[in-house]
Amino acid sequence: MKTIDQISFAGKRALIRVDFNVPLDKNYTITDDNRMTAALPTIKKILKDGGAVILMSHLGRPKGGPEEKYSLKHIVPHLADLLGQQIEFADDCIGEDALAKSKALGKGEVLLLENLRFHKEEEQGDKDFAEKLSKLGDVYVNDAFGTAHRAHASTAIIAQFFPNAKYFGYLMAGELANAEKVLNGAAKPFTAIMGGAKVSDKIELIEKLLDKVDNLIIGGGMAYTFAKAQGGNIGKSLVEADKLDLALSLVRKAKEKGVNLLLPADSIIADNFSNDANTDVAKNDNIKDGWMGLDIGPESIAAFSKVVEESKTILWNGPMGVFEMEKFESGTKAIAEAVVRATENGAFSLIGGGDSAAAVAKFNFTDDVSYVSTGGGALLEYMEGKELPGVKAIND
Ligand code: AMP
Repeated sequence: MKTIDQISFAGKRALIRVDFNVPLDKNYTITDDNRMTAALPTIKKILKDGGAVILMSHLGRPKGGPEEKYSLKHIVPHLADLLGQQIEFADDCIGEDALAKSKALGKGEVLLLENLRFHKEEEQGDKDFAEKLSKLGDVYVNDAFGTAHRAHASTAIIAQFFPNAKYFGYLMAGELANAEKVLNGAAKPFTAIMGGAKVSDKIELIEKLLDKVDNLIIGGGMAYTFAKAQGGNIGKSLVEADKLDLALSLVRKAKEKGVNLLLPADSIIADNFSNDANTDVAKNDNIKDGWMGLDIGPESIAAFSKVVEESKTILWNGPMGVFEMEKFESGTKAIAEAVVRATENGAFSLIGGGDSAAAVAKFNFTDDVSYVSTGGGALLEYMEGKELPGVKAIND
């Protein structure tokens, strides 16, 4: 793997694609800076070598032009705090000002470029735009795992302008090594915990995992599609009516492959999608009309926790319920606790990004699991066996 450990950056300008797509509140305060701290080891190594750093990222979903709320200038003060030094800012990621500022950088200095997605060419993977960006650095480093599944200008296309000077940053290298460890080097028993809203988002991964895991736990909204397919009454729980056959075929496949498939036996049900709703406990196949399952119930928690605690490798993607609401967080929290206990007993636990990472962070377990991925979609695609454009571009 071509990583930044293979060169010294002394006297070089490193153009680093980072994923600083952090959540900001309405006062532009960063509410979770994980993605920034995750990129610090790479930045610090390059600065320590005596290189200069040019950081480029996207933020939010601008419509192809500048928008105040998506300006990366809002994160400059926090980045300066994290690095303990002044940060230069260019208010366009390409053009004369960015070029002049990148050339003027001395060793150990840092320049942050304005949001890449203020140019629609970024997401289009435009080659000319990528070439303009490439002028800003001598070496290209990709440390943005969260966008590695996109063939955007800054994540993939740009690499062709650095045929002999392109490297993975530490975050990318770590993400790939940990995903690989779970996918191809898992100690047994290997348990995958799948949750979240929809089964349709995760079918490919579930199918792939059936060849790898000993136990497959399914919770969250997606479990009700299975309950309905098996003839249960699920009230007005979340369901994908066109995926009932698929759910049954996954159950069948699990059996054929000898995978222990665990579906929730019970749920916390509510008469409303709200933290103020009336709640009750019900069997998953017998949810009252007009009520919906919003979390796994106590029986499910006990059964899932037991399997998790006996595992040596754990992959978790997707919450067990609507953990954002206090009334429906217990299932996700209990499973997180089981993952922590398994980790304490020597298991390797990989938490998929997105909502699973948010849940683990909410319960303050981030430091108690083996690895929390910064990539939601990217990790899913990698695990499904797809080649990520951002990875391929460096490897080619
Ligand atoms: P995903 O992005 O597919 O991992 O889905 C995560 C979302 O699923 C979270 O926002 C949860 O609130 C939601 N979710 C989990 N369980 C349920 C459920 N039983 N009913 C509705 N939404 C759910």
